[in-house]
Amino acid sequence: MNFKDTKIAFSYKSNLEIKKSFYLFRLLSMGSLSKIGRKVLRLMIYLNFPVNYLIKKTIYPQFCAGTDFTETKKTAIKLNTYNLSSVLDYSTEAHSNEEEFEQSFEQCLKVMEESKTLAISDFIVFKPTSMGSIKLFEKISRNGYVSSEDTDEWNKIKERFKLIFDAAKAKQMKVLVDAEESWIQKAIDDLVFESMLIYNRDYTLIYNTIQAYRSDRLDYLKQIHQKFNGSRVKIGVKLVRGAYMQKENKRARELNYKSPICKNKFLTDESFNNSLKYIFKNINDFCLFIGSHNEKSNLLAVKLMQREKMENSTDKVWFSQLYGMSDNISFSLAKKGYNVAKLIPFGPVKEVIPYLMRRIEENTSISEQTNRELSLIRKEIIRRKKVNLN
Ligand SMILES: Cc1cc2nc3c(=O)[nH]c(=O)nc-3n(C[C@H](O)[C@H](O)[C@H](O)COP(=O)(O)OP(=O)(O)OC[C@H]3O[C@@H](n4cnc5c(N)ncnc54)[C@H](O)[C@@H]3O)c2cc1C
Repeated sequence: MNFKDTKIAFSYKSNLEIKKSFYLFRLLSMGSLSKIGRKVLRLMIYLNFPVNYLIKKTIYPQFCAGTDFTETKKTAIKLNTYNLSSVLDYSTEAHSNEEEFEQSFEQCLKVMEESKTLAISDFIVFKPTSMGSIKLFEKISRNGYVSSEDTDEWNKIKERFKLIFDAAKAKQMKVLVDAEESWIQKAIDDLVFESMLIYNRDYTLIYNTIQAYRSDRLDYLKQIHQKFNGSRVKIGVKLVRGAYMQKENKRARELNYKSPICKNKFLTDESFNNSLKYIFKNINDFCLFIGSHNEKSNLLAVKLMQREKMENSTDKVWFSQLYGMSDNISFSLAKKGYNVAKLIPFGPVKEVIPYLMRRIEENTSISEQTNRELSLIRKEIIRRKKVNLN
């Protein structure tokens, strides 16, 4: 497996697109400049400057595929011709009232319908806090029970989850449930793993997300495995490292409790890779969706598949990277016949700004990855120039 073949990695990008990506990643790789840019952008948004046009012309096309389904499906159909699947994610955030939860729920069903009709993907994804109040998830996670005053609101959330799972079952689709902050996660985990016992009987319909940067997650995975033992239900796991490290550590410091996050990157990597090893060792009981841009972890998964003598194309294992990132991994795996899905955020510019801000922050802080991205793009530009000269 070679993740360095840039001809494969960028085969779907035109010369112009690749140049745009180069300038963007070069800007992001300049840590302090990127930080200043982020602050200026935040200020402009705060002051209600009309920044949509600027964003749409710069960072948006790198990380988002369109403002609506019609625009986005073109990208998904194009990726399909390279043997890549897509998971469309209508990426609005910060939902806070019943009307917004209802809208997200409807949107989720619509994406499912359209993904199925156009055969874009068998997966859909949703964020639990787009379906219900973050405060309620937090309260139930803390107390461990639902108080009588919260019952109606909690039932509405459960009903939305159920209707999504029912709709997926009717269409033979699969549902990825995102993981969020640790202090709201228990309520989500309990609800989603319980639902698996109902819905994952005929096939693995539900995948819950495990964040390996939490030092307790490998033990938790083992506990869940034990709980399911004997049920003959497959456990769907979306394995990621975790996206809220700064927020988690900050809250732990402020409220004076031990951060749930691994002490350093090495320990997170170890936790992720050991979780992979555990799942593959017990692969008869699991279906796995790996969300990572880490080359070593992706290679480890490939090696573990080989050790278990699994076909590359087995539906039990999926690889996934975010749209606009790590195409070298996605396209190389897809070329070898592994199941790969690009997670494709879409939505109106104004609504995806929080997502784009996270991408800027992540690509600034994970400089190793940004530099890798930049050097691969540079290599491809040089390669194309040479081909044109010959
Ligand atoms: C398809 C897909 C779905 C995703 N879904 C979710 C989701 O539902 N919930 C979610 O939280 N995230 C999700 N993520 C984001 C993911 O958790 C990571 O933030 C991101 O992918 C970077 O990790 P990595 O494995 O790609 O690569 P790497 O670059 O190898 O790892 C970076 C990650 O390592 C961890 N890390 C970095 N520095 C330290 C440190 N000093 N100490 C401890 N740990 C450290 C952090 O988690 C950081 O994000 C998803 C990512 C993908 C690709």
